[in-house]
Amino acid sequence: MSAAQPSVFARIIAGEIPCQRVFENEHVLAFLDIRPLAEGHTLVLPKRSAARLADLTPAEAAELGRQLVAIAQRVVAVTGAAGVNLLLNDGQVAGQEVPHVHFHIIPRQAGDGLGYRWRPQDRNAADLEALAARIRAQP
Ligand code: AMP
Repeated sequence: MSAAQPSVFARIIAGEIPCQRVFENEHVLAFLDIRPLAEGHTLVLPKRSAARLADLTPAEAAELGRQLVAIAQRVVAVTGAAGVNLLLNDGQVAGQEVPHVHFHIIPRQAGDGLGYRWRPQDRNAADLEALAARIRAQP
């Protein structure tokens, strides 16, 4: 997709494509995922077009996070989920398909068969300490 072409989410925000809206304010829109991984799978996004997390202003990020937590609680209450995953795919390599920042709210139930390939690696304490120091020093 070229940079000039609006993403599917930009078109939803503009009202050109319908969605099953669950929340909207001046800055944030949330709607049901059209191909849900679970009942209540919801997407939460900033209304301003921003492809990547790094494109958000601090104020936009704060508002997105605030609404994400509130909407997740409503989704869990309505679906009766036993737990929830909050997921954001940032970048193609991370699985991002739509180039507009969005969190996934994925309600979970015992035995639902969903999961992530979680492959922990061993690291020694010195390596972890050095890496944490570098991240702390990053502006
Ligand atoms: P991601 O891979 O993180 O970019 O996720 C994109 C998500 O957007 C997928 O879960 C799709 O099912 C969902 N999606 C794509 N088009 C639409 C649409 N028109 N309405 C609702 N959800 C959509």
